[in-house]
Amino acid sequence: MAAIADNLQAVRERIDRAMKAARREPARVALLAVSKTHSSARIAEAHAAGQRAFGENYVQEALDKMQALQPVALVGLEWHLIGPLQSNKTRIAAEHFDWVQTIDREKIARRLSEQRPAALAPINVLIQANVSAEVTKSGVALADVDALAAEVAKLPRLRLRGVMAIPEPGAPVERYRAVRQVYAQLAERYGCDTLSMGMSDDLEIAIAEGATLVRIGTALFGPRDVSRRAEKTAA
Ligand SMILES: *Cc1c(COP(=O)(O)O)cnc(C)c1O
Repeated sequence: MAAIADNLQAVRERIDRAMKAARREPARVALLAVSKTHSSARIAEAHAAGQRAFGENYVQEALDKMQALQPVALVGLEWHLIGPLQSNKTRIAAEHFDWVQTIDREKIARRLSEQRPAALAPINVLIQANVSAEVTKSGVALADVDALAAEVAKLPRLRLRGVMAIPEPGAPVERYRAVRQVYAQLAERYGCDTLSMGMSDDLEIAIAEGATLVRIGTALFGPRDVSRRAEKTAA
């Protein structure tokens, strides 16, 4: 298995090339390291190589790693929840994550806002847009993003940052473009600055279509060991 530092370097080069090809400024794409199924030791290794933002799909799996890493006190760690969030897990999410990228219901947003501890800054949230309804049930239809955004923007302990989407493998460029258009409206209306789109296999097309944050697992940590995957229930 290649060292994470080498993988990080390779991914950053891919991002830079994609930015150049799209004639965009290199400074504007954030890299989220998706560490699901990978150990806290691997997260510490990525952190030592300069990575700060990590994405997890399951609240409990993430919490276990946060606790394992606590004695090490890694500087500047930032945790993003990128898996579906059920209402019985919103409190843990509100208490432990910096970002929740998967807001797709007002109820979840409201609970997160109510449960966000006063001592912490408002939690950053993205509305998950469902662009591939035949593949996943998660996310709100593109046509409904705007209405949900209007509600989320009113919640005092949330900070609406933009949109997240997971186009299915091999999705046509129009899918990415449709997300970009919806995101552009939110950026104008609410000052949003984050379009989370693109994974190990499609970061180039996502960046060409305006992604400001890419979520990369396999290309950084190698293949996931499915036997270590948390139970298939939603986070
Ligand atoms: C697992 C996952 C990723 C990372 O996928 P890779 O193909 O391994 O880069 C990104 N986003 C979400 C929502 C995921 O669940």
